[in-house]
Amino acid sequence: MSDTKFSPILPAANPPAWLGVMGGGQLGRMFAQAAQAMGYQVAVLEPSDACPAGQVAQRLVNAGYSDAAGLDALAAQCAAVTTEFENVPADSLSRLAQSVFVAPDAHGVSVAQDRIAEKRFFVGCAPKSGVLPAPHKVIASQADIDAIEDDLLPGILKTVRMGYDGKGQVRVKSRADVQAAFESMDKVTCLLEKMLPLAYEVSVLTARGHDGESVVYPIAENVHRDGILFTTTVPGPNVSDESALKAQQAAQAIVAELGYVGVLCIEFFVLTDGSLVVNEMAPRPHNSGHYTMDACVTSQFAQQVRAMARLPLGDVRQHSPAVMLNILGDVWFTDDTDATREPAWHEILALPGANLHLYGKDDPRRARKMGHLTFVAPTLAQAQQQLNAACAILGIAP
Ligand code: ATP
Ligand code: MG
Repeated sequence: MSDTKFSPILPAANPPAWLGVMGGGQLGRMFAQAAQAMGYQVAVLEPSDACPAGQVAQRLVNAGYSDAAGLDALAAQCAAVTTEFENVPADSLSRLAQSVFVAPDAHGVSVAQDRIAEKRFFVGCAPKSGVLPAPHKVIASQADIDAIEDDLLPGILKTVRMGYDGKGQVRVKSRADVQAAFESMDKVTCLLEKMLPLAYEVSVLTARGHDGESVVYPIAENVHRDGILFTTTVPGPNVSDESALKAQQAAQAIVAELGYVGVLCIEFFVLTDGSLVVNEMAPRPHNSGHYTMDACVTSQFAQQVRAMARLPLGDVRQHSPAVMLNILGDVWFTDDTDATREPAWHEILALPGANLHLYGKDDPRRARKMGHLTFVAPTLAQAQQQLNAACAILGIAP
């Protein structure tokens, strides 16, 4: 699909229309808050009745993601529907699209939720984007394992579907390791990726409108810890102007080629030799884009509202350097026991430039995303200093 394809321009959906979102997690919650700030009403479809987005939406359609009656109720109420998680069944988006405007569409989401389709798309797009994914091979049988070339090892075996926060991934050094890992994952189809020498990781947040116009936010530099995003820093301390420009151009080529409407985040690796490799994309606002809520003219959630409502896209300009820290459930625990206590938010909020976002989850669990903090400051060094102070208060290594 390309942006030259004929696409009828629909009128905008103005407030107080209803906007629908598939999924009730924290991304749906922050989307709902942004939509409501603009005067929209929000309906969330989610099977669990105690969910972060359900606490703030005007309506919770309590139904499974593939439930026909639930989907039809959402479509009947809303002027447009989006998704807050990438594993939403593509068939559900197709069903919704029969009666309501859906952004992103089933095509874009189905490419992003399947690592094989995603890699194939990136390879096909490379003449336009100028970037390739890591060397890789589909592993679906013993014959595939036997045929692994030496050059792909050491590598990472990733399940094709449903991976997130490093789940569904095993690092492998040999064919025997691949075999053991494949068996441990019940022989679901996997992708073996060559382990690349990463210098650092960046993500590029883009948004594309119904009219084919697109915008790109500043490059974000990401640090992961135990497979989960730990911090996002913008501007990235390691990011050169050259790799920033290359990643931004690649991202715009990718959204155009996908014929995508909405916010899309693309993760890239910068290798030790300076080259850029595209890793994966998320068809929705992204954890690494949370800094936009406090540091940019238009947040990623307000941008998603604009794109799906077919309004002009907002200014992506960043007005302050920013560092975002994810707050995991771990900081509620003081020792190895199950005893929890509320972190010292009054101390955190005494730090200059602190913005606290909590997602309304009442049971903290280790490794569970409970909220995030963004520090904005006149200089990046000042923002980083406040982040270090927050880490000390929360008892986490900076
Ligand atoms: P998330 O949904 O949290 O972004 P994920 O579980 O979908 O993550 P990836 O982003 O593919 O998985 O990988 C998680 C992390 O593992 C990457 O951010 C990177 O640090 C590392 N990684 C993944 N693939 C490679 C690779 N080919 N070479 C080196 N490191 C890699
Ligand atoms: Mg990732």
